Amino acid sequence: MRQARIRPVSYAIVATLGLVAIWLTPALEKKQVFPMQPVVVTEPGLEPADFLLSPLVVTASKTELVDTLSIVGVIHSSLYNALNESGVGVLPAEARHKLAWSLADIFEYKVDMSRDLAQGDKFHILVERLQKPNGAIIVNKILGARLALSNSHNPLEAIHFDPPGGGSTQYYDASGMSLRAAFLRAPVAFRRISSIFGMRKHPLFGEWRNHTGTDYAAPMGTPVRAIGDGVVIFVGRNGGYGNMIDIRHRNGMVSRYGHMRNFAPEMRPGLHVAMGSTIGFVGMTGWATGPHLHFEIRVGGVAHDPKLALQSKGGEPIPASERALFQKMRNQTLASLSEAHVPNATE
Ligand SMILES: [Zn+2]
Repeated sequence: MRQARIRPVSYAIVATLGLVAIWLTPALEKKQVFPMQPVVVTEPGLEPADFLLSPLVVTASKTELVDTLSIVGVIHSSLYNALNESGVGVLPAEARHKLAWSLADIFEYKVDMSRDLAQGDKFHILVERLQKPNGAIIVNKILGARLALSNSHNPLEAIHFDPPGGGSTQYYDASGMSLRAAFLRAPVAFRRISSIFGMRKHPLFGEWRNHTGTDYAAPMGTPVRAIGDGVVIFVGRNGGYGNMIDIRHRNGMVSRYGHMRNFAPEMRPGLHVAMGSTIGFVGMTGWATGPHLHFEIRVGGVAHDPKLALQSKGGEPIPASERALFQKMRNQTLASLSEAHVPNATE
C-alpha cells in the first residue's frame, strides 16, 4: 500500500527537522540560582508586636493542619468582646471576629442577638481550626456550641452535622431538632444593627405607652425582613403604626411591622413572602420620634410579646435514617463541651 510507505517516511522527516531545530537552538546562559528563603509567619497566638521583636522562622508546609479548639467565655460587655478575649492566643483577630458572626448565625432562630444577650451569659464553642500552608489560620467550622443565657434555665446547644448523603450541613439541638426553625427571631438582620451583641439600653422612641411589641433601633432605610414564610394581609398606613405590613403565617400567627419609611416595591395584599425576604425599610412614620422598627406578633388579633411567642417554635427533627449517626456525633460533641470548665461570671 502506498499510504503505508509514506507514513514512516514523513515521521522520519519530522524527527530530523526536530533534531536540527534542537541543534540550532542556542544554549541559555547559566543563571545564578538563589537558595529558597525561609518563610516568616506569625505563630498562632503571637501578637504582631511579638512577632516583630522575635521573628519566628518555620519551614513552609504543603499540608493543612486541622485541630479542634475549645473556647470558653463569659459575656461582660458584649459577645464580640468576650470572644475576642477568649480567642486570643489561639485565633488571629480576624478569625475571632468571624467567629462571633458564625455563632450568631447558628443561633439566629433561637436568640435575638441584638437584644437577648446579658451580662453573665456563658458560651462554650468547639472550633475546627485550619492552618493553611501559607500560615493563615481560619475557623473552618464550628463543631458544637453551648450558649447559657442567664435569663434562661436550659442552655442552648448546637451540634454540627453533615448528612452522609451530601445534604446541607445543619445544626441540631441535643434532641435532634434542627436549629433552623420556621421563624427568624428578629425582623432586622443583626448584621444591620449598629450596636450588636451588646447589652445596650434600649432607647425609647416616644411611642404609645404599654405597647406590646419590640422596637429595633436601626438607621433609616435598613431592610426589614419577613420573619417567616407567609401571606401579606395588610400594606398601608395605620394610625400610630405609620406605614405598616401584616403577614399571616401558616399557624395563623400574624407578624406586624410598623413605622416603615417605605415598602418593598412589589408589596400588596395576597402576596406570598418567604422567610428573610425584604418587605420594607426602617423609618419613623406614625407615632415615632426616631427611626426604628416596631415589631409585633399577633395571635387571634391580640398582640403578644415576640420573645415569648417565638420561643417555642422549633425546627424539623433529624431524618430517621440519619439518627443513629447523629447520636454518635452528638455524644462526642456534648462530651467535649462538658469537659471544659465553664467559669462563673464572678471569677
Ligand atoms: Zn414599638
